[in-house]
Amino acid sequence: MLQQEKDIIAEAARQLTICNACRYCEGYCDVWDAIEIRREFSPHDVLHLANLCHDCRDCFYACPYIPPHEFAINIPKIMKESRMISYKQFVFPKAFRWILDRFAQTYFILTFLIFLALMTYVVFLHGATIFYKSYLPMQLLFPPYIFLLLEYSMYAYVFILWYIEGSKYWKYISKGAKVEIKSVFKALGDVFLHKNFRGGGTGCAYPYDKGNYFRLVAHALVMFGFIIDWVGILFYPFVSLSFILLYLLGSLMMFAGSVTLLIMSGLADKNVDTEGISSFSGAFLLLSVSGILFFLFLPTPTWTIFFLIRVSSVGSIFLLAPFSKFIHPIFRFLSLVWNRQELAMQQKVMHAP
Ligand code: SF4
Ligand code: SF4
Repeated sequence: MLQQEKDIIAEAARQLTICNACRYCEGYCDVWDAIEIRREFSPHDVLHLANLCHDCRDCFYACPYIPPHEFAINIPKIMKESRMISYKQFVFPKAFRWILDRFAQTYFILTFLIFLALMTYVVFLHGATIFYKSYLPMQLLFPPYIFLLLEYSMYAYVFILWYIEGSKYWKYISKGAKVEIKSVFKALGDVFLHKNFRGGGTGCAYPYDKGNYFRLVAHALVMFGFIIDWVGILFYPFVSLSFILLYLLGSLMMFAGSVTLLIMSGLADKNVDTEGISSFSGAFLLLSVSGILFFLFLPTPTWTIFFLIRVSSVGSIFLLAPFSKFIHPIFRFLSLVWNRQELAMQQKVMHAP
């Protein structure tokens, strides 16, 4: 760990120690239950709590000790900085750690390069006229066996790297504990129901101090839209009209969600965090817009160009997934599992005869 990262962890531990004495924010999210069962905050605890935090910002606006108070408490900001450290610490291979600081540039350059490669392939095989003169269906554009080979290789690549990163992260936060299946199911429920986006009943104080559910809804739209599209494409080329419509629905959901998240990140209170527009939501916006456009232009030659943009942006997201904010679903999920497991152990100890 770099000295600057050690300083961030030490600062997080300082703030969490004050919170543990105060506990005013109990009930906002799982972080506060996890704090309660600790007296001290080791780097293991800090990284776990950082991924348990969903950046709802309720605790910032509730806190009387935010800057300029001498305690200088800003939990959402320090948790976010600590989360970034966790991504950098467990990213695999380490040589790609730099991408975490340059996601936007890397994503758009990589998307462009994949797009150029696909254009070259398509023009070489079918000629440039397919972009403006003769409509070519997907099966003829890319033979299904090539498409499926590339698609499943990419999934294998992402899941293997995620597994390595997730295993290292789990070992670190749980200090080698075994995963309990019951906690896994409970954590899955937390993820799908967006438990930590609810602020214990007030919603997220995002983009500014009024609690609301826009962020919950927008995140759910992006997440479920992505899952719907992913499931839809898994069955290609054995797809019926209902699958195609489902795929369009997924893109529309991602579009609505990512636009809302982009606007919110632009409006977000800079007193909490100076970060500007979210590049991650920008990537999803490109993905969803190209997905909608290629459906709208079916069956005309123009669909090809949007389809290639769509495939390039999807490919880029998957290729960068192990080295970008796309690690967050894995680490956050594992922290939710560990939280469930820890609380269950605590209950057992309390009710032991
Ligand atoms: S964020 Fe502030 S109000 Fe909330 S528990 Fe910590 S110190 Fe207390
Ligand atoms: S999820 Fe919200 S309430 Fe919980 S620690 Fe993060 S910012 Fe604070």
